[in-house]
Formats: sequence, structure tokens, C-alpha cells
Amino acid sequence: MLALCEQLFPICRSITGNGVRETLRIIGESIPVQLHEVASGTAVFDWVVPPEWNLRRATLRGPDGAILADTDVHNLHVLNYSTPFRGTVTLDELRRHLFSRPDRPDVIPYRTSYYKPAWGFCLPHRIVESLVEGNYAVDIDTTLAPGSLTYGECLLPGESADEIVLSAHVCHPSLANDNLSGIAVAVAAVRALRGRKRHYTVRVVFAPGTIGAIVWLHRNRANVGRVRHGLILSCLGDDGSMTYKASRKESATIDRVALAVLQARGRPHSVRRFSPYGYDERQYSSPGFDLPFGVLMRTPYGEYDAYHTSADNCSLLDPAALEDSAETVLAIIDSLEGSVRPEGDLVPDPHEDSFVAEDATPPVASPDEGRRFRNLQPYGEPQLGRRGLYATTGGTTKSAGYEMALLWVLNLSDGHHDLRAIAVRSGLPLPTLLEAAAALLGVGLLEEITPGSAADRSGASRR
Ligand code: ZN
Repeated sequence: MLALCEQLFPICRSITGNGVRETLRIIGESIPVQLHEVASGTAVFDWVVPPEWNLRRATLRGPDGAILADTDVHNLHVLNYSTPFRGTVTLDELRRHLFSRPDRPDVIPYRTSYYKPAWGFCLPHRIVESLVEGNYAVDIDTTLAPGSLTYGECLLPGESADEIVLSAHVCHPSLANDNLSGIAVAVAAVRALRGRKRHYTVRVVFAPGTIGAIVWLHRNRANVGRVRHGLILSCLGDDGSMTYKASRKESATIDRVALAVLQARGRPHSVRRFSPYGYDERQYSSPGFDLPFGVLMRTPYGEYDAYHTSADNCSLLDPAALEDSAETVLAIIDSLEGSVRPEGDLVPDPHEDSFVAEDATPPVASPDEGRRFRNLQPYGEPQLGRRGLYATTGGTTKSAGYEMALLWVLNLSDGHHDLRAIAVRSGLPLPTLLEAAAALLGVGLLEEITPGSAADRSGASRR
């Protein structure tokens, strides 16, 4: 697993382009992978497959001609999806195109701008602070042109068409734990599972984050009913203890099985409740699909120092942790297999609702708490960036409360949850949720449900 991560590490991946193809080709040397290409401009739910991005090289030279950033040295130096640009700019102009982390001055941050055309460089903050007045030579040799988005699938047929889906994102450039570790653990799991007799068909989806998962859901929307259990694999190589993040249902079989496996392995671990922020559980668990996908991680995204920086390199990966992660995935699959009777139905679980404690219900504080909405784009996340509701530069560590409120209101506005229920589940204050709901109503992504109305009754019948 470590050798595979080291082999994949130097490749400049993104949500489209040759880096993803090369990554899938290398994975295909270990396990069978079918590549799928989806043309730029293809509409997928609320999104459109963007132009294909490829990087040849990007360099930034200072007034004295010295190279300050060079993607041949580290591909995090270029803003991922940067438009091509060649020219000389002043320090003032250059500063508008630089990204750095004042809190971590020695690392290169990871930043993306997939849907808002922009050029830029990512630099250690200590270098940004040392820049002097003068002219800077920018040479960003990238292409953004009609092409396609690439994703890969590995299918291990079982006796049943019912599926266990493992999903790992393949869009991050030179970042090891997030998410070469997830890719390597998926490959190791497939190698262990090949040739074994199984009830379930196992499908591994290697897709770029967000848009790749949305493309996969769009192309498979008629067949998602066969997905019985799902697991997102990410951040599985650091030496932290195992973390399981529950599916949106929180009491799905995958949730109970994952918890039981972690307990049985007897090592330190923790369990997180579902939230609509994170990896592609955001898409698989959108209210229109509501598929039972949990997330298996060690230290969760955003919670280790190296996250989304050049410090997330292969030295962060611990072979024993990778092995423990792969064994845990296999134990979860074995346990899911064991939960199937010979006739194919599930053994009743006596602990149906024991995964999480019931939410406490505080007293009603305002009539606004009873308001209910329906998400009008419930299949995958709607694209908030192009509506001006969401930051367009990706890769930042934390989402603000308002952006979290947008995601919570969208995810739980399925006709059943009122704002009070969303406040309880999200832990966000009512005024923030009201502000988010007003913004989503304003751009036509929500409708308000009047009790007893046609919209209310249609919600009840969909229950
Ligand atoms: Zn990431």
C-alpha cells in the first residue's frame, strides 16, 4: 500500500485530466479497473462537467530571476484548475493571486478553483512575506479545453446483484493521506476479496470528489436501489485511531456493523454522527438518494495539522495504520456478508435504534422553528458556488457556520424535518438556519411547505 502511494504521489491530479487517467492506469496494474469518460459540457443534475484541465508546468520568478514556485518541484504550487497565464506583473497584482497559510508558514497550501476561472500560486507564507517590490514573471502553462471527466470502477460480482460500494476520491494532487491512503486501502481490499465466494457484489468507485460522485450517481440513478451498503474510504494512513462517521440514516446496517467491527477489534476508535459536510457522503447522502454510506477514516479531514498542505506527504503514512485500515474494511465486508441469511434477507438486528442516542428536544422558542421546506434539487448537492452562496476557492480547512447551515438545510429539507429538527441535528442557531433558508428560497433551491398543502401531502406520500 505504501509503495502504491509513493508511486501515485508525484502525479498532478485534479477533477479532470491526465493525472486521473494515469492514476487509474496504475491502479489497473493491481486490480481490474474500467475507465469511464464523460464529456465536458454534460449536464449532471444541477452541475455541468467542466472543461478538462491539464498542467504542463507553472513557474513564478522573482525580480532577480530566481524561481519562487515551480510545479516540477511540487504540484501544489499551482492553484488547481488555474487558467493559463503568461506575463509580468507587479507585486501588488501578484498578491491577489497568491495563497498561503499564515498559521503554517512553512508549508504549501492546497487550493482549487474549479468553477471560477482564476490563475494563482500557492506558496509557503514565509516566502510570501519575503517578497520585494518589482516585476514578477508568471508562466502558467495549463490547458482548459473541451475534453472529459474520468472515473474508474472495479466490479467484483457476487451471487446477488445487491452491492456493497466502496468509494475513494482520486482528485487530490500530491497529497498522501488525503487521499492516496484511501485509494491504496481500496486496492488492497479488492486484492484480498478477489476469488472469494460472496453474497454481495462489491463495487469500488474511484472518482473525483463532488463532481465525480455526482456524475456517477447521475449515470447510475436507475440502479442505485441495488446499493445496500456504502463506505467512503479517506485519510486511512496516519497513525491516529480509527474514526467511523455514520450514514445519514445513522441506524443503517453499515452503521451497526462498522461500530460492532471497531468494538470487536478492540483498538481505540471513535464514532461521529452524520453531517452533510465532508467527502462524497455529501452526494450519496443527498436527500433524493439517501444511500447508506458511512465514512471510514483515521484522523478525520481537517483535524490533522498536515491536512490539505504539502506536509501531507508519504512520510505521514504509517504502514501499520494502512494495514489496520484495510483489515477493518475487510472485517466490515465479512460482517455484512455474515448478516445475510442463506435466503438472502437480513438477520433482524435487536439493536435497531441503538447507534446514537435520541436527540434531546428543547422547548419551542419561536414559531419559525416549525417552518418546513423542500429541497428542489435533492439529487446530489446543488452547485452553490455559481449562485454566489458559497466560497469558490476550495481546499480551505473549515466551512463557516453559514455555509454549514446551507448544507444542513438542503440535506434535511426533505419535507419531514422542520427548522427545529434541523437546529437540533446540526447544533446551529436558529437565526443562522433562517438566514440560510432565506438565501436558498431566494435562488429557488427551496420551497416552503404550508401544512396541509399539496406539497405537504406529496411529502407524506414519499415517506
Ligand atoms: Zn481533501
